[in-house]
Formats: sequence, structure tokens, C-alpha cells
Amino acid sequence: MAAVRPSTLLFLRRCPYTGPPFSYTRAFAYKPRRHLTTTPPRYDSSSFSPHTHTFHDVAPLRQFRRDLLIHNRTVGLVPTMGALHEGHLSLVREAAAENTDVFVSVYVNPTQFGLNEDLASYPKTWEADMRMLIALDWELASVGAGRITAVFAPSTKTMYPTIPPDSAIPGAGSFVEMRPLGQLLEGASRPVFFRGVATVCMKLFNICTPDRVYFGQKDIQQTVVIKRLVKDFHLNTEVRIGPTQREDDGLAMSSRNVYLGTRRRNTGIVLRESLLKAEAQYLSGKRKRGDILWPANAYADRVQHEQDSLDAHSRARFEVDYISLADPETMEEIDEVDESRGAILSGAVKMLPVEDAREDEELGVGGGKIPVRLIDNIVLEPIV
Ligand code: AMP
Repeated sequence: MAAVRPSTLLFLRRCPYTGPPFSYTRAFAYKPRRHLTTTPPRYDSSSFSPHTHTFHDVAPLRQFRRDLLIHNRTVGLVPTMGALHEGHLSLVREAAAENTDVFVSVYVNPTQFGLNEDLASYPKTWEADMRMLIALDWELASVGAGRITAVFAPSTKTMYPTIPPDSAIPGAGSFVEMRPLGQLLEGASRPVFFRGVATVCMKLFNICTPDRVYFGQKDIQQTVVIKRLVKDFHLNTEVRIGPTQREDDGLAMSSRNVYLGTRRRNTGIVLRESLLKAEAQYLSGKRKRGDILWPANAYADRVQHEQDSLDAHSRARFEVDYISLADPETMEEIDEVDESRGAILSGAVKMLPVEDAREDEELGVGGGKIPVRLIDNIVLEPIV
């Protein structure tokens, strides 16, 4: 069973409380409905699951974590930027299957957004996120899995206690960087992105000290960066990667998909379809870069020309940023797939703003004016 061990439960019931104030032990064993925050929760905690505690500050979360450790409970951390969807929830389910306690962090990290990126317009849906987590926590209870016992929603002052976050290059502040990994692919288009991701994850891992951390394959280069972070800095946690959750037609779920609207949504599937064509080449025995990638590039080009030739009131124009065939550990481009290592096929397209909206057209959040960057990938598994 992934939930609390029976021996731990017995211990919790019998053990007289000896811990400090605001102890999880006391809250859980004697007053299960008590909420564990030293500051009043900013969310209306009366409607919040009794098992889930919201933290905005580091010290009470650390205390909570210490109490879990004393009772041999295990923590799986799922870092998110909120605007939750099934992709995030799948990671929580995975964490709950392997740990007694799941921590979900909800923090839109400014340092991973470039100066001209969409930090200000990034979707913030705190109330809906909490409702999803509560519903999921009940589901986890019903199957006897671990529970979502902590949601960590810090302020930026808490996460960046000395110098305010800076997205400039080189920028002022304390940063974690991986070179050249962080400069490739997504990092080439978004130069501060992986510096921001590695930095905020280092902070979150230090605060939560999770036994395991859960990341989605959807952001594959991010998973490589996190594995590198854990290895190079000797962080005491295991990295788990969950599969990409998709819409029915195969589009990878993403918090940013709400900006697409129907027209761009329908064309955005081009990336997935291009990558599938490349994967088919690998599965049919092709190993050389050109042989694997040409059908993907040809397909993307064709769809692009089709769209460009349509009227402005019906087309969804896009730019292909990259379609890559890379080494699974370095993300460097390869000329040929080494069967013993496999490879990562990945790509990014930028859906351009809708030019000429039709009356009653569903344009998504932002009225079709916000460009949307879509990323996706397929792992070409090693042949054993
Ligand atoms: P975000 O809130 O976008 O920073 O994502 C938080 C975590 O959810 C990251 O580990 C993402 O890779 C993961 N994630 C986002 N979308 C998906 C998806 N469609 N399937 C699986 N995991 C996802």
C-alpha cells in the first residue's frame, strides 16, 4: 500500500504529542480539521480538504515536513505553475501511488520568463486549481493512495528573499545554470528559461526535501535539466517522469492552450503529426538523421503553405521554431541514432496571432491576439 503504513498509524494514534506548536502530528492525530499555517490562509480554508494544508511560507512547511520524516512518511513533490489540467493531475496520481504524502507547489516563477514573454498574462486560476486538487484528493482517498497533504503557494518575496527576480542577461541574483544544456533548443529561443527553472526547482527541492519529484515528459528538455540538477548538485531525491497527457486528437495538454481558440487549436496539431511521421521512420528501421526527419519537415512545410495560402479570416499561420533529433542526456543534435541510447524527437511551433477574426468565432482567452508557443516530443526508445 502506498498510503500510511499500519505501524505508523498505530504510532500516530498512541504517541503523546511532544512536538512544537503547529505540528502536523498534533493536527493529524488529534485535531484532523485544523489547518496548518502560521499565517491565515489566503484561500477560504473552510471549503478546503481536511487533509490538505496550504502553506505560503517556508518555516511552517519545513516543520510539517520534519514531522512527516519523523513518522517515516514519504513525500512526492509535483512542482507546477498552476492553471492545472489533467497533465498535472496525472503527475499527482503517480506521486500518490509511490508516496504517503504529495506536495503540490503552485508558483508562477518570474525568472523563467524572458523580458518579452507572457509572465503578466500567464493564466492564474487559483480557486479552480484548489477545487481540482480537492476532488483529486478525495479520489486518492477512495483508492487508498497517498494524499495531497500540502499545497505550497509562496509569494515571490518568499522565493527570492534577497534580490528581486531578474530576467535580464546576465541579471542580478543567485542562479543555477547548466551549460550548454540550458542554451539548446528551448533554451535557444528562451535564453533565461532553464536558468529560471533550475533555480526555482533548487529552491523548491531545498524547501520541501522530497523523496521523489515528478515532472511531465511533455517538457522533455526540462526533465533532462532536472535530472542534471539532481546529479550535479547531489540532491537527495529521485526524479520521476510521467507520460504526456493529450487531448483526444493528440494535442499535448498545456496551460497555454486556453489562448489558442478553435482555429489555431485545429492547426496546432501539426507539430504532433510531424513528430509521428519521424517516429514512424525510426520504427521502420531508419537511423540516420535525414531519413528520420525529412517526412516531419516536409509535412510541417506543407501544412504551413496550405495555411499561408488561405484567406486571412480563416487561416492559422505558424512558424516552426525547430524539429530536433537529439541525444537523450545532452539534448545535442545527432546525425545518427545509437540504438543502445535511443533519442529524443522534439519540436516547437509558434502559433501566430489570428489576423482577421470572423463574427462569433471562438478565439480563446486573449481574443486570438496572443502568440502561442507549442512544444511536443516523442522518445525514440533504445533497442535492447
Ligand atoms: P507547468 O505548470 O506548465 O510548469 O507544468 C508543471 C508540470 O506538469 C511539469 O512537470 C510539466 O512537464 C507537467 N505537464 C504539463 N503539461 C503536461 C502534460 N500534458 N502531460 C504531462 N505532464 C504535463
